[in-house]
Amino acid sequence: VEKPKNEMDSILSYSSGTKEREELLREIERIKKTTEEIPLIIGGRKVKTGEVIEIRAPHDHDVVLAKAHLAGEDELKEAIECALSAWEDWSELDWYHRVAIFRKAADLLAGKYRKRNIAAIMMNLSKNPYEAEIDLAELVDFWRFNPYYIRFIYEQQPDQAPGEMNRTDWRPLEGFILAVTPFNFYSIGGNLPTAPAMVGNVVLWKPSRSVIFANFEIMKILMEAGLPDGVINFVPFPSKWSDVVLSHPDFAGLHFTGSHETLVKLWKRISENITRYKNIPRIVGETGGKDFIFVHSSADVKAVVTNIIRGGFGYQGQKCSAVSRVYVPKSLWPAIREGLLAELPRIKYGPVDDLSNYMGAVIDEGAFKKIVSYIEYAKAHPEEYEIICGGHYDSGKGWFIEPTVILTKNPKGKLMTEEIFGPVVTVYVYDDDKYEETLRLCNETSPYGLTGSIFARDRYAIVKAEKMLRYAAGNFYINDKPTGAIVGRQPFGGSRWSGTNDKAGSWLNLLRWLNPRTIKETL
Ligand code: GLU
Repeated sequence: VEKPKNEMDSILSYSSGTKEREELLREIERIKKTTEEIPLIIGGRKVKTGEVIEIRAPHDHDVVLAKAHLAGEDELKEAIECALSAWEDWSELDWYHRVAIFRKAADLLAGKYRKRNIAAIMMNLSKNPYEAEIDLAELVDFWRFNPYYIRFIYEQQPDQAPGEMNRTDWRPLEGFILAVTPFNFYSIGGNLPTAPAMVGNVVLWKPSRSVIFANFEIMKILMEAGLPDGVINFVPFPSKWSDVVLSHPDFAGLHFTGSHETLVKLWKRISENITRYKNIPRIVGETGGKDFIFVHSSADVKAVVTNIIRGGFGYQGQKCSAVSRVYVPKSLWPAIREGLLAELPRIKYGPVDDLSNYMGAVIDEGAFKKIVSYIEYAKAHPEEYEIICGGHYDSGKGWFIEPTVILTKNPKGKLMTEEIFGPVVTVYVYDDDKYEETLRLCNETSPYGLTGSIFARDRYAIVKAEKMLRYAAGNFYINDKPTGAIVGRQPFGGSRWSGTNDKAGSWLNLLRWLNPRTIKETL
Protein backbone atom coordinates (compact mmCIF):
# COMPACT_ATOMS: atom_id res chain seq x y z
CA VAL A 1 0.00 0.00 0.00
CA GLU A 2 1.49 3.30 -1.03
CA LYS A 3 1.25 6.13 1.49
CA PRO A 4 -1.65 8.26 0.27
CA LYS A 5 -1.41 11.99 -0.37
CA ASN A 6 -3.14 14.27 2.10
CA GLU A 7 -6.49 15.75 1.21
CA MET A 8 -8.16 15.63 -2.13
CA ASP A 9 -6.63 17.02 -5.26
CA SER A 10 -7.50 20.61 -4.62
CA ILE A 11 -9.84 22.81 -2.71
CA LEU A 12 -12.54 23.69 -5.18
CA SER A 13 -13.26 27.23 -6.20
CA TYR A 14 -16.55 28.71 -5.08
CA SER A 15 -16.02 32.16 -6.53
CA SER A 16 -18.89 33.52 -8.54
CA GLY A 17 -19.52 32.10 -11.97
CA THR A 18 -17.78 28.76 -11.37
CA LYS A 19 -19.49 25.45 -12.05
CA GLU A 20 -18.59 24.29 -8.54
CA ARG A 21 -20.45 27.20 -7.01
CA GLU A 22 -23.58 26.57 -9.07
CA GLU A 23 -23.60 22.87 -8.17
CA LEU A 24 -23.08 23.60 -4.50
CA LEU A 25 -25.87 26.18 -4.42
CA ARG A 26 -28.19 23.68 -6.13
CA GLU A 27 -27.45 21.08 -3.47
CA ILE A 28 -28.09 23.64 -0.73
CA GLU A 29 -31.44 24.58 -2.28
CA ARG A 30 -32.43 20.94 -2.51
CA ILE A 31 -31.58 20.42 1.17
CA LYS A 32 -33.51 23.53 2.21
CA LYS A 33 -36.64 22.36 0.39
CA THR A 34 -36.80 18.87 1.85
CA THR A 35 -37.11 17.47 5.35
CA GLU A 36 -35.52 14.04 5.38
CA GLU A 37 -36.87 11.32 7.63
CA ILE A 38 -33.86 9.58 9.16
CA PRO A 39 -34.24 6.05 10.52
CA LEU A 40 -31.82 4.08 12.68
CA ILE A 41 -29.69 1.54 10.87
CA ILE A 42 -29.58 -1.74 12.78
CA GLY A 43 -28.10 -4.79 11.14
CA GLY A 44 -28.42 -3.01 7.79
CA ARG A 45 -32.16 -2.46 8.28
CA LYS A 46 -33.91 0.87 8.52
CA VAL A 47 -35.72 1.11 11.85
CA LYS A 48 -38.26 3.77 12.77
CA THR A 49 -39.15 4.14 16.42
CA GLY A 50 -41.59 7.03 16.38
CA GLU A 51 -39.51 8.89 18.95
CA VAL A 52 -38.47 11.68 16.64
CA ILE A 53 -36.45 14.89 16.98
CA GLU A 54 -36.16 17.77 14.53
CA ILE A 55 -32.77 18.82 13.20
CA ARG A 56 -32.66 22.49 12.21
CA ALA A 57 -30.03 24.59 10.47
CA PRO A 58 -28.14 26.49 13.21
CA HIS A 59 -28.15 29.66 11.09
CA ASP A 60 -31.83 29.53 10.16
CA HIS A 61 -34.46 28.42 12.68
CA ASP A 62 -37.02 28.00 9.88
CA VAL A 63 -35.08 25.31 8.01
CA VAL A 64 -35.92 21.82 9.25
CA LEU A 65 -33.28 19.58 7.72
CA ALA A 66 -34.55 16.31 9.10
CA LYS A 67 -36.76 14.42 11.47
CA ALA A 68 -34.62 11.76 13.06
CA HIS A 69 -35.70 8.65 14.92
CA LEU A 70 -34.01 7.89 18.24
CA ALA A 71 -33.29 4.45 19.61
CA GLY A 72 -34.76 3.18 22.87
CA GLU A 73 -33.86 0.23 25.05
CA ASP A 74 -35.19 -2.44 22.65
CA GLU A 75 -33.42 -1.05 19.60
CA LEU A 76 -30.13 -0.79 21.47
CA LYS A 77 -30.38 -4.41 22.61
CA GLU A 78 -31.15 -5.42 19.05
CA ALA A 79 -28.23 -3.37 17.71
CA ILE A 80 -25.86 -5.11 20.13
CA GLU A 81 -27.14 -8.52 19.00
CA CYS A 82 -26.72 -7.58 15.34
CA ALA A 83 -23.22 -6.25 15.98
CA LEU A 84 -22.17 -9.39 17.83
CA SER A 85 -23.47 -11.68 15.13
CA ALA A 86 -21.72 -9.58 12.44
CA TRP A 87 -18.50 -9.93 14.48
CA GLU A 88 -18.28 -13.65 13.71
CA ASP A 89 -17.41 -13.10 10.04
CA TRP A 90 -16.10 -9.53 10.13
CA SER A 91 -13.43 -10.20 12.76
CA GLU A 92 -12.09 -13.07 10.64
CA LEU A 93 -12.06 -11.26 7.33
CA ASP A 94 -8.64 -10.62 5.76
CA TRP A 95 -7.64 -7.02 6.32
CA TYR A 96 -7.50 -6.12 2.63
CA HIS A 97 -11.15 -7.09 2.16
CA ARG A 98 -12.19 -4.85 5.03
CA VAL A 99 -10.02 -2.00 3.92
CA ALA A 100 -11.30 -2.15 0.33
CA ILE A 101 -14.72 -1.08 1.59
CA PHE A 102 -13.41 2.06 3.29
CA ARG A 103 -11.21 2.98 0.38
CA LYS A 104 -14.23 2.70 -1.85
CA ALA A 105 -16.17 4.90 0.59
CA ALA A 106 -13.34 7.46 0.37
CA ASP A 107 -13.62 7.48 -3.42
CA LEU A 108 -17.39 7.96 -3.26
CA LEU A 109 -16.99 10.81 -0.81
CA ALA A 110 -14.22 12.51 -2.77
CA GLY A 111 -16.11 12.07 -6.05
CA LYS A 112 -19.79 11.30 -6.57
CA TYR A 113 -21.05 12.61 -3.20
CA ARG A 114 -18.63 15.46 -2.59
CA LYS A 115 -20.98 18.38 -3.29
CA ARG A 116 -23.89 16.75 -1.55
CA ASN A 117 -21.88 16.21 1.60
CA ILE A 118 -20.27 19.64 1.58
CA ALA A 119 -23.76 21.12 1.36
CA ALA A 120 -24.96 18.86 4.18
CA ILE A 121 -22.03 19.89 6.41
CA MET A 122 -22.65 23.56 5.64
CA MET A 123 -26.35 23.39 6.40
CA ASN A 124 -26.18 21.14 9.45
CA LEU A 125 -22.95 22.27 11.13
CA SER A 126 -23.09 25.87 9.83
CA LYS A 127 -19.61 25.74 8.32
CA ASN A 128 -18.56 27.97 5.44
CA PRO A 129 -17.79 26.08 2.19
CA TYR A 130 -14.06 26.03 2.86
CA GLU A 131 -14.36 24.72 6.43
CA ALA A 132 -16.89 22.18 5.12
CA GLU A 133 -14.56 21.02 2.36
CA ILE A 134 -11.63 20.69 4.77
CA ASP A 135 -13.85 18.63 7.08
CA LEU A 136 -14.91 16.33 4.24
CA ALA A 137 -11.29 16.03 3.03
CA GLU A 138 -10.27 14.97 6.53
CA LEU A 139 -12.67 12.04 6.45
CA VAL A 140 -11.34 11.03 3.03
CA ASP A 141 -7.86 11.18 4.60
CA PHE A 142 -8.88 9.00 7.56
CA TRP A 143 -10.31 6.40 5.19
CA ARG A 144 -7.20 6.41 2.98
CA PHE A 145 -4.49 6.72 5.64
CA ASN A 146 -5.84 4.24 8.18
CA PRO A 147 -5.51 1.33 5.71
CA TYR A 148 -1.88 2.30 5.23
CA TYR A 149 -1.25 2.26 9.01
CA ILE A 150 -3.13 -1.01 9.39
CA ARG A 151 -0.77 -2.76 7.05
CA PHE A 152 2.15 -1.22 8.93
CA ILE A 153 0.80 -2.59 12.22
CA TYR A 154 0.11 -6.09 10.87
CA GLU A 155 3.67 -6.24 9.60
CA GLN A 156 5.00 -5.87 13.13
CA GLN A 157 6.02 -9.39 14.11
CA PRO A 158 8.18 -10.79 16.92
CA ASP A 159 11.74 -12.11 16.68
CA GLN A 160 12.54 -15.69 15.79
CA ALA A 161 15.07 -18.07 17.32
CA PRO A 162 16.40 -21.50 16.32
CA GLY A 163 13.82 -24.17 17.09
CA GLU A 164 10.87 -21.83 17.38
CA MET A 165 8.54 -19.84 15.20
CA ASN A 166 6.80 -16.78 16.70
CA ARG A 167 3.92 -14.78 15.36
CA THR A 168 1.59 -11.97 16.37
CA ASP A 169 -2.05 -12.48 15.53
CA TRP A 170 -3.52 -8.97 15.42
CA ARG A 171 -6.99 -9.75 16.74
CA PRO A 172 -9.79 -7.18 17.02
CA LEU A 173 -11.35 -6.68 20.46
CA GLU A 174 -13.72 -9.38 21.59
CA GLY A 175 -17.08 -7.65 21.83
CA PHE A 176 -18.46 -4.39 20.46
CA ILE A 177 -17.31 -0.76 20.51
CA LEU A 178 -19.46 2.26 21.30
CA ALA A 179 -18.51 5.32 19.20
CA VAL A 180 -19.83 8.60 20.62
CA THR A 181 -19.21 11.42 18.18
CA PRO A 182 -19.30 15.23 18.44
CA PHE A 183 -21.11 17.90 16.44
CA ASN A 184 -18.13 19.96 15.38
CA PHE A 185 -16.37 17.67 12.92
CA TYR A 186 -18.17 15.54 10.38
CA SER A 187 -14.80 13.81 9.86
CA ILE A 188 -14.59 12.78 13.52
CA GLY A 189 -18.19 11.56 13.18
CA GLY A 190 -16.98 9.30 10.38
CA ASN A 191 -13.65 8.30 11.89
CA LEU A 192 -14.66 7.19 15.38
CA PRO A 193 -16.88 4.28 14.25
CA THR A 194 -14.78 3.34 11.20
CA ALA A 195 -11.26 3.28 12.69
CA PRO A 196 -12.15 0.37 15.03
CA ALA A 197 -14.24 -1.28 12.29
CA MET A 198 -11.34 -1.24 9.83
CA VAL A 199 -9.30 -3.47 12.13
CA GLY A 200 -12.17 -5.92 12.53
CA ASN A 201 -14.36 -4.55 15.29
CA VAL A 202 -18.13 -4.04 15.29
CA VAL A 203 -19.66 -0.78 16.42
CA LEU A 204 -22.69 1.02 17.79
CA TRP A 205 -22.50 4.62 16.60
CA LYS A 206 -24.14 7.35 18.67
CA PRO A 207 -23.80 10.58 16.66
CA SER A 208 -24.33 13.97 18.28
CA ARG A 209 -28.04 14.66 18.00
CA SER A 210 -27.42 18.12 16.50
CA VAL A 211 -25.78 16.67 13.39
CA ILE A 212 -27.66 13.45 12.69
CA PHE A 213 -28.55 14.84 9.26
CA ALA A 214 -24.93 15.27 8.04
CA ASN A 215 -23.71 12.14 9.83
CA PHE A 216 -26.38 9.98 8.20
CA GLU A 217 -24.85 10.88 4.82
CA ILE A 218 -21.69 9.09 6.01
CA MET A 219 -23.70 6.01 6.95
CA LYS A 220 -25.34 5.95 3.51
CA ILE A 221 -21.94 6.05 1.81
CA LEU A 222 -20.60 3.23 3.97
CA MET A 223 -23.58 1.08 3.03
CA GLU A 224 -23.19 1.88 -0.67
CA ALA A 225 -19.49 0.99 -0.39
CA GLY A 226 -20.52 -2.49 0.76
CA LEU A 227 -20.13 -2.45 4.53
CA PRO A 228 -21.70 -5.73 5.73
CA ASP A 229 -24.87 -5.46 7.82
CA GLY A 230 -24.36 -5.04 11.53
CA VAL A 231 -20.69 -3.96 11.41
CA ILE A 232 -21.63 -0.34 12.16
CA ASN A 233 -25.07 0.35 13.57
CA PHE A 234 -26.33 3.93 13.39
CA VAL A 235 -28.22 4.44 16.65
CA PRO A 236 -28.64 7.97 17.98
CA PHE A 237 -30.13 7.57 21.44
CA PRO A 238 -30.93 9.71 24.48
CA SER A 239 -28.29 9.41 27.20
CA LYS A 240 -30.83 7.92 29.61
CA TRP A 241 -30.30 4.64 27.71
CA SER A 242 -26.49 4.67 27.99
CA ASP A 243 -26.57 1.95 30.61
CA VAL A 244 -28.18 -0.53 28.22
CA VAL A 245 -24.94 -0.35 26.27
CA LEU A 246 -22.46 0.24 29.08
CA SER A 247 -23.68 -2.59 31.30
CA HIS A 248 -23.58 -5.22 28.54
CA PRO A 249 -21.00 -8.00 29.16
CA ASP A 250 -19.72 -7.71 25.58
CA PHE A 251 -19.01 -3.99 25.78
CA ALA A 252 -15.33 -3.85 24.76
CA GLY A 253 -14.46 -0.21 24.15
CA LEU A 254 -15.48 3.43 23.95
CA HIS A 255 -14.28 5.73 21.15
CA PHE A 256 -15.29 9.18 22.25
CA THR A 257 -14.93 12.83 21.31
CA GLY A 258 -16.85 15.40 23.32
CA SER A 259 -16.65 17.25 26.60
CA HIS A 260 -14.42 16.37 29.52
CA GLU A 261 -17.49 16.21 31.78
CA THR A 262 -19.25 13.66 29.57
CA LEU A 263 -16.16 11.47 29.30
CA VAL A 264 -15.79 11.50 33.07
CA LYS A 265 -19.45 10.48 33.46
CA LEU A 266 -19.09 7.61 30.98
CA TRP A 267 -15.80 6.50 32.55
CA LYS A 268 -17.49 6.31 35.95
CA ARG A 269 -20.36 4.25 34.55
CA ILE A 270 -17.87 1.92 32.90
CA SER A 271 -15.90 1.50 36.13
CA GLU A 272 -19.11 0.76 38.04
CA ASN A 273 -19.87 -2.00 35.55
CA ILE A 274 -16.34 -3.32 35.33
CA THR A 275 -17.00 -6.73 36.88
CA ARG A 276 -19.78 -7.46 34.38
CA TYR A 277 -17.55 -7.30 31.33
CA LYS A 278 -15.80 -10.19 29.66
CA ASN A 279 -12.87 -7.87 28.89
CA ILE A 280 -11.49 -4.72 30.49
CA PRO A 281 -12.80 -2.15 28.01
CA ARG A 282 -10.53 0.20 26.08
CA ILE A 283 -11.39 3.84 26.55
CA VAL A 284 -10.19 6.38 24.00
CA GLY A 285 -11.43 9.89 24.58
CA GLU A 286 -10.60 13.23 23.06
CA THR A 287 -12.14 16.04 25.05
CA GLY A 288 -11.89 19.78 25.48
CA GLY A 289 -9.19 22.38 25.39
CA LYS A 290 -8.25 25.85 26.52
CA ASP A 291 -5.89 26.39 23.65
CA PHE A 292 -3.44 29.24 23.50
CA ILE A 293 -1.30 31.42 21.33
CA PHE A 294 1.79 32.63 23.19
CA VAL A 295 3.52 35.58 21.59
CA HIS A 296 7.17 36.45 22.21
CA SER A 297 8.49 39.96 21.58
CA SER A 298 10.42 38.70 18.54
CA ALA A 299 7.22 37.50 16.79
CA ASP A 300 5.96 38.62 13.39
CA VAL A 301 2.93 40.77 14.26
CA LYS A 302 1.10 40.20 11.00
CA ALA A 303 1.36 36.43 11.42
CA VAL A 304 0.09 36.72 14.99
CA VAL A 305 -2.98 38.74 13.96
CA THR A 306 -3.86 36.41 11.09
CA ASN A 307 -3.50 33.33 13.23
CA ILE A 308 -5.50 34.67 16.17
CA ILE A 309 -8.31 35.33 13.71
CA ARG A 310 -8.08 32.02 11.85
CA GLY A 311 -7.42 29.94 14.96
CA GLY A 312 -9.92 31.75 17.18
CA PHE A 313 -12.81 32.38 14.84
CA GLY A 314 -12.61 29.69 12.14
CA TYR A 315 -15.82 27.67 12.52
CA GLN A 316 -16.98 30.16 15.15
CA GLY A 317 -14.31 28.93 17.59
CA GLN A 318 -16.08 25.59 17.92
CA LYS A 319 -13.01 23.40 17.47
CA CYS A 320 -11.47 21.64 20.45
CA SER A 321 -8.26 23.16 19.16
CA ALA A 322 -9.55 26.75 18.79
CA VAL A 323 -7.49 29.64 20.14
CA SER A 324 -9.12 30.75 23.35
CA ARG A 325 -6.41 32.58 25.34
CA VAL A 326 -3.59 34.71 24.02
CA TYR A 327 -0.49 35.96 25.83
CA VAL A 328 1.00 39.11 24.29
CA PRO A 329 4.10 41.10 25.32
CA LYS A 330 3.48 44.75 26.16
CA SER A 331 5.79 45.95 23.38
CA LEU A 332 3.70 44.26 20.66
CA TRP A 333 0.21 44.79 22.05
CA PRO A 334 -0.47 48.19 20.37
CA ALA A 335 0.36 46.75 16.94
CA ILE A 336 -1.56 43.50 17.52
CA ARG A 337 -4.54 45.38 18.87
CA GLU A 338 -4.51 47.66 15.87
CA GLY A 339 -4.30 44.68 13.53
CA LEU A 340 -7.24 42.95 15.21
CA LEU A 341 -9.33 46.12 15.18
CA ALA A 342 -8.62 46.58 11.48
CA GLU A 343 -9.44 43.00 10.49
CA LEU A 344 -12.19 41.77 12.81
CA PRO A 345 -14.96 44.20 11.83
CA ARG A 346 -14.44 43.06 8.23
CA ILE A 347 -15.31 39.47 9.06
CA LYS A 348 -18.72 38.72 7.63
CA TYR A 349 -20.96 36.45 9.60
CA GLY A 350 -24.44 35.20 8.82
CA PRO A 351 -26.19 32.22 7.17
CA VAL A 352 -23.58 30.08 5.43
CA ASP A 353 -25.73 29.54 2.33
CA ASP A 354 -24.63 33.08 1.52
CA LEU A 355 -21.16 31.95 0.48
CA SER A 356 -19.57 35.30 1.30
CA ASN A 357 -20.00 34.77 5.05
CA TYR A 358 -16.81 33.66 6.79
CA MET A 359 -18.59 32.76 10.03
CA GLY A 360 -21.91 30.97 10.46
CA ALA A 361 -23.93 30.37 13.60
CA VAL A 362 -23.01 28.38 16.70
CA ILE A 363 -24.52 24.94 16.81
CA ASP A 364 -27.59 25.30 19.03
CA GLU A 365 -29.38 27.16 21.78
CA GLY A 366 -27.38 25.51 24.56
CA ALA A 367 -24.07 26.55 22.98
CA PHE A 368 -25.41 30.04 22.28
CA LYS A 369 -26.47 30.59 25.89
CA LYS A 370 -23.22 29.26 27.31
CA ILE A 371 -21.03 31.44 25.09
CA VAL A 372 -23.19 34.52 25.70
CA SER A 373 -22.90 33.97 29.46
CA TYR A 374 -19.12 34.45 29.20
CA ILE A 375 -19.53 37.66 27.19
CA GLU A 376 -22.03 38.94 29.74
CA TYR A 377 -19.72 37.96 32.59
CA ALA A 378 -16.96 40.06 31.02
CA LYS A 379 -19.34 43.00 30.59
CA ALA A 380 -20.42 42.71 34.23
CA HIS A 381 -16.81 42.78 35.49
CA PRO A 382 -15.23 45.87 33.94
CA GLU A 383 -12.57 45.96 36.65
CA GLU A 384 -11.20 42.73 35.17
CA TYR A 385 -12.26 42.68 31.49
CA GLU A 386 -12.46 45.07 28.58
CA ILE A 387 -14.22 44.11 25.35
CA ILE A 388 -11.89 45.19 22.58
CA CYS A 389 -14.03 44.10 19.69
CA GLY A 390 -17.39 42.35 19.11
CA GLY A 391 -19.52 41.36 22.08
CA HIS A 392 -22.86 41.38 20.25
CA TYR A 393 -25.11 38.44 19.54
CA ASP A 394 -28.48 37.81 17.98
CA SER A 395 -30.63 34.70 18.04
CA GLY A 396 -33.47 36.07 15.88
CA LYS A 397 -32.78 34.09 12.71
CA GLY A 398 -30.05 31.74 13.92
CA TRP A 399 -27.54 31.36 16.77
CA PHE A 400 -25.21 34.18 15.82
CA ILE A 401 -22.38 35.55 17.95
CA GLU A 402 -19.96 38.23 16.79
CA PRO A 403 -16.23 37.46 16.85
CA THR A 404 -15.23 38.85 20.22
CA VAL A 405 -11.85 39.79 21.69
CA ILE A 406 -11.63 40.54 25.39
CA LEU A 407 -8.66 41.96 27.25
CA THR A 408 -8.13 40.73 30.79
CA LYS A 409 -6.07 41.93 33.72
CA ASN A 410 -6.41 38.59 35.45
CA PRO A 411 -4.44 35.76 33.82
CA LYS A 412 -6.07 33.23 36.13
CA GLY A 413 -9.65 34.47 35.74
CA LYS A 414 -12.70 32.65 34.47
CA LEU A 415 -12.22 33.56 30.82
CA MET A 416 -8.58 32.44 30.84
CA THR A 417 -9.27 29.05 32.39
CA GLU A 418 -12.71 27.71 31.35
CA GLU A 419 -13.52 26.23 27.96
CA ILE A 420 -15.97 28.53 26.13
CA PHE A 421 -16.18 26.71 22.76
CA GLY A 422 -17.23 29.75 20.79
CA PRO A 423 -15.94 32.87 19.03
CA VAL A 424 -14.44 34.49 22.13
CA VAL A 425 -10.70 35.09 22.54
CA THR A 426 -9.26 36.48 25.75
CA VAL A 427 -5.93 38.35 25.73
CA TYR A 428 -3.53 38.88 28.59
CA VAL A 429 -0.71 41.39 28.16
CA TYR A 430 2.53 40.61 30.02
CA ASP A 431 5.74 42.56 30.69
CA ASP A 432 8.34 41.69 28.07
CA ASP A 433 10.91 40.82 30.72
CA LYS A 434 8.53 38.31 32.32
CA TYR A 435 8.61 35.83 29.43
CA GLU A 436 9.55 32.76 31.46
CA GLU A 437 7.29 33.67 34.34
CA THR A 438 4.37 34.03 31.93
CA LEU A 439 5.18 30.74 30.20
CA ARG A 440 4.97 29.10 33.61
CA LEU A 441 1.64 30.81 34.18
CA CYS A 442 0.35 29.60 30.80
CA ASN A 443 1.35 26.06 31.68
CA GLU A 444 -0.32 26.16 35.07
CA THR A 445 -3.57 28.05 34.52
CA SER A 446 -5.61 25.64 32.47
CA PRO A 447 -6.51 22.08 33.42
CA TYR A 448 -6.47 21.14 29.70
CA GLY A 449 -3.56 20.16 27.48
CA LEU A 450 -4.77 19.98 23.90
CA THR A 451 -3.20 22.54 21.55
CA GLY A 452 -1.11 25.67 21.71
CA SER A 453 1.25 27.85 19.68
CA ILE A 454 4.36 29.91 20.20
CA PHE A 455 5.02 32.86 17.90
CA ALA A 456 8.66 33.94 17.96
CA ARG A 457 11.59 34.51 15.63
CA ASP A 458 14.14 34.17 18.42
CA ARG A 459 15.20 30.51 18.45
CA TYR A 460 16.07 30.56 22.17
CA ALA A 461 12.58 31.84 22.95
CA ILE A 462 11.09 29.01 20.86
CA VAL A 463 13.18 26.40 22.66
CA LYS A 464 12.22 27.81 26.06
CA ALA A 465 8.51 27.68 25.20
CA GLU A 466 8.76 24.19 23.77
CA LYS A 467 10.39 22.96 26.99
CA MET A 468 8.28 24.84 29.51
CA LEU A 469 5.00 24.02 27.78
CA ARG A 470 5.81 20.35 27.29
CA TYR A 471 2.58 19.09 28.82
CA ALA A 472 0.45 22.16 28.08
CA ALA A 473 -0.37 20.91 24.58
CA GLY A 474 -0.44 17.52 22.87
CA ASN A 475 -0.30 19.41 19.56
CA PHE A 476 2.24 22.24 19.76
CA TYR A 477 2.72 24.67 16.89
CA ILE A 478 5.60 27.01 16.20
CA ASN A 479 4.59 30.10 14.25
CA ASP A 480 1.26 28.66 13.16
CA LYS A 481 -2.28 28.57 14.53
CA PRO A 482 -3.07 25.62 16.81
CA THR A 483 -5.99 24.36 14.69
CA GLY A 484 -6.17 22.39 11.47
CA ALA A 485 -4.20 19.22 12.22
CA ILE A 486 -3.86 17.07 9.11
CA VAL A 487 -4.22 13.30 9.18
CA GLY A 488 -0.81 11.63 9.07
CA ARG A 489 1.08 14.91 9.36
CA GLN A 490 0.01 16.22 12.80
CA PRO A 491 -1.44 13.23 14.70
CA PHE A 492 -4.03 14.80 16.98
CA GLY A 493 -4.75 14.70 20.72
CA GLY A 494 -3.77 16.01 24.11
CA SER A 495 -3.46 14.93 27.71
CA ARG A 496 -4.51 16.33 31.10
CA TRP A 497 -8.27 17.08 30.89
CA SER A 498 -8.10 16.92 27.10
CA GLY A 499 -8.21 13.17 26.86
CA THR A 500 -6.29 9.94 26.55
CA ASN A 501 -4.11 11.30 23.73
CA ASP A 502 -4.41 8.29 21.46
CA LYS A 503 -3.58 10.42 18.43
CA ALA A 504 -6.31 10.26 15.81
CA GLY A 505 -4.81 10.10 12.36
CA SER A 506 -1.94 7.79 13.29
CA TRP A 507 -1.28 4.09 13.94
CA LEU A 508 -1.33 4.79 17.70
CA ASN A 509 -5.10 5.18 17.64
CA LEU A 510 -5.60 1.97 15.66
CA LEU A 511 -3.46 -0.01 18.11
CA ARG A 512 -6.08 0.68 20.79
CA TRP A 513 -8.65 -1.36 18.85
CA LEU A 514 -6.41 -4.40 18.60
CA ASN A 515 -5.87 -7.22 21.01
CA PRO A 516 -2.70 -9.01 19.89
CA ARG A 517 -2.19 -12.72 20.43
CA THR A 518 1.34 -14.11 20.59
CA ILE A 519 1.76 -17.54 19.06
CA LYS A 520 4.87 -19.62 19.64
CA GLU A 521 5.39 -22.83 17.70
CA THR A 522 8.15 -25.20 18.73
CA LEU A 523 9.81 -26.60 15.65
N1 GLU B 1 -8.37 18.14 14.61
C1 GLU B 1 -9.00 19.43 14.71
C2 GLU B 1 -7.98 20.52 14.56
O1 GLU B 1 -6.81 20.27 14.56
C3 GLU B 1 -9.75 19.62 16.00
C4 GLU B 1 -10.60 18.46 16.36
C5 GLU B 1 -11.65 18.76 17.39
O2 GLU B 1 -12.17 19.87 17.47
O3 GLU B 1 -11.98 17.80 18.09
O4 GLU B 1 -8.37 21.66 14.48
